[in-house]
Amino acid sequence: MFKPLVLALLVPSAASAGQNYLLTSQDPVFLGKLAPHAVTVYSSGRTRLVDLKTPYNELPGDLRAGLRPVSPDEVYNGAAPLPALRAPDPAVQAVLSRVDGARLAGYAEAITMAGKRSAAQLDVSAASGNRLAGDYIASAFKEMGYKAERQCYKDRKSDKECNIIARYASGQTGAKAILIIGHMDSVGYEKAGADDNASGSAGVLEMARVLSAYRSSHDLIFVAANGEENGITGGYAAAKYLKSTGELSRVAWAINMDMISWNRDGVVELETNKEFASHADWVGAQASVYTKLKPYIAMPAWGSDHVPFLEAGIPTYLSIEHWEDHNPCYHKACDKLEALSWDYAAEIVKLNLAVVAGKAKLSLK
Ligand SMILES: [Zn+2]
Repeated sequence: MFKPLVLALLVPSAASAGQNYLLTSQDPVFLGKLAPHAVTVYSSGRTRLVDLKTPYNELPGDLRAGLRPVSPDEVYNGAAPLPALRAPDPAVQAVLSRVDGARLAGYAEAITMAGKRSAAQLDVSAASGNRLAGDYIASAFKEMGYKAERQCYKDRKSDKECNIIARYASGQTGAKAILIIGHMDSVGYEKAGADDNASGSAGVLEMARVLSAYRSSHDLIFVAANGEENGITGGYAAAKYLKSTGELSRVAWAINMDMISWNRDGVVELETNKEFASHADWVGAQASVYTKLKPYIAMPAWGSDHVPFLEAGIPTYLSIEHWEDHNPCYHKACDKLEALSWDYAAEIVKLNLAVVAGKAKLSLK
């Protein structure tokens, strides 16, 4: 059941007067290793802050990598403000009515069944699950009429990882662009990573499929990112590459989907940084007007493909399942298709399409 969450302010106390650290990983293995060194001083939604019992500089590198010093005024967690009563726009509703939950589930199934999709396993060869998932996504984009590009980058010494990027060009000079991203890699269990993040990359495909029927005033850039589970390597590589092509400066909005299909209470978390709080509130309002979702705002951002775009100064949010009650199989071999809700995932896809339709002028081809 949905329990309204109250905004908790950080109360400085003798015990927590020192520097607070934001967890930028909530991987269960990481949490286990960190436990003896840290005390949780704040936990709400996606945001968990700790005080350290062991000085930061004395922690092993893998623990330091999951901690970022944070100031209390960066932090906010709470239900999105309710919008002023507003009637939905029938043109936007017509776009959303094209979302097909069964198709979304089909995309997610194909990506999940590709096999082990970690970019860190020594298997980014032609036969690997990581490569097969990328090939599947590229061919799905092509079937919709997009050109799909394998945008490869070098992460570890001998590995060559690739994002899959598809584009729609509005044909208008200097047009603004909207970027839609979701990572296709997983932590690497066989035929798992269904929620994290076959679901979000399937969401990218379903948005692309729906939008392929429309002309848009904005250019559209769809990214199935690689290497997210190894330090957001694909997201950073995509941002760097789009900067080199001159496209990044035209991106007016970026939307990230990561874990959108495990649900018990209909809450969607919208995560961004404080500087884009009003954008997140606007997205929350779209959720209230156009979907059955209960929007909840979380700040600051960490740990997924929205981070590189926020760092580039672009209004970006992550849409993600309710983190207070997230998938118990997160980063485990049991993250399988069976437990997931495609009705809920379809609502998140609708929300993100409502955002696109609210920003770009769409007309049927
Ligand atoms: Zn993920």
